[in-house]
Amino acid sequence: MSTMLDRASAQARDAADPLRARREAFHLPAGVIYLDGNSLGALPRTTPARVAEVVARQWGGDLISSWNAHGWVDAAARTGARIAPLIGARAGEVIVADSTSVNLFKLLVACCQATPERRTILTEPGNFPTDLYIAQGVAATLPDRVVSTVPADHIADAIDDDVAVVLLTHVHYKTGRMLDITAITAAARAKGALVLWDLSHSVGAVDLRLDDWNVDCAVGCGYKYLNGGPGAPAFLFVAERLHDTLASPINGWFGHAAPFDFVDDYRPAPGIVRFQGGTPPILALAALDEGIAQFDGVDWDQVIAKSQALCDLYVTLVEDRCREHGFTLLTPRSAARRGSQVSFAHDHAHAICQALIARGVIGDFRAPDVLRMGFTPLYTGHDDVWRAVDVLVDIMTTRAWDDPRYTERAAVT
Ligand SMILES: *Cc1c(COP(=O)(O)O)cnc(C)c1O
Repeated sequence: MSTMLDRASAQARDAADPLRARREAFHLPAGVIYLDGNSLGALPRTTPARVAEVVARQWGGDLISSWNAHGWVDAAARTGARIAPLIGARAGEVIVADSTSVNLFKLLVACCQATPERRTILTEPGNFPTDLYIAQGVAATLPDRVVSTVPADHIADAIDDDVAVVLLTHVHYKTGRMLDITAITAAARAKGALVLWDLSHSVGAVDLRLDDWNVDCAVGCGYKYLNGGPGAPAFLFVAERLHDTLASPINGWFGHAAPFDFVDDYRPAPGIVRFQGGTPPILALAALDEGIAQFDGVDWDQVIAKSQALCDLYVTLVEDRCREHGFTLLTPRSAARRGSQVSFAHDHAHAICQALIARGVIGDFRAPDVLRMGFTPLYTGHDDVWRAVDVLVDIMTTRAWDDPRYTERAAVT
């Protein structure tokens, strides 16, 4: 645990930070300390020009010939290949398509249909809502399927011969807890069940080695640590050994072996492309590709070390400087058991979060009582953490949060 508590030490750490220059690649508004890159990644400075170029020159100038001339036709696989090294996969195992929710549907159905003698989709209570809702929808769509929920600590023991697929989120959105992906994946394999990991809060922030860990399938979000912009398309991963076993229920023509033959019968494309579905969103793909490009040439050990240092610093400062103010740490203290975000519970978390935002410190409130801060190693600095906690201390000691302005709830929290 860090003992660095004064601002000068935080600034000294930033000065020595090998990732320091990466921050300059992002547009960070003046007067804002942005601790929400785990929810919506910041805008890379190069993204507006990249998107403008695709709009004006490619779409505007070259029109439909761009499908070939500018490689639109395989843009989803190309950007997928760029994501592959971030998750420890091979280029041909990842494709960008649809939203995380839709990819969950596609892969859950595929996993269930590949194991027809097994009835259960096993997940944990309190998983991210869309994961639970999609699982419930899949169970309602396929004959004889059930969703079973077991607390994550007991999930490995709960995998039996009836489990078709284990669906879990690697880093929990609310608590930041990181599950033991290797142990759970191995337990599932030993019982003949497939695994589907949701990496939305992991990719771009923690160490991932899907191939080494024998992971079957995964999905992840493009607009969080990958900086792809609001509603960016998501990605999906299927281990190469399963490409011919799993079949997407969305037999879109862009997943066909020869879409421009316009034949009546579906024939899946070889490899990961079969999971693509329909026409890829070219403008959004350009923004996502630029977001992922921010990781080019990055030393992954440095990213992880910085993520852990920022989280440790935040925990230490809040526990030290807000000791009297009723915060309870929800995130595991051990860096090996958490992602790149830290949550504290507090009875007035919503009002505190609003008061922070009013002073330019952007974090998240998650119902019912969670104050969540995300630490993006590429553009968050130690001094940001120090100043954010300084504002928090002031809000707590002056009770600035206790104001009717801060109790109103907007549609998006
Ligand atoms: C953010 C997030 C999603 C997002 O799903 P969408 O389909 O993009 O709305 C899914 N799962 C988890 C765990 C997430 O954190």
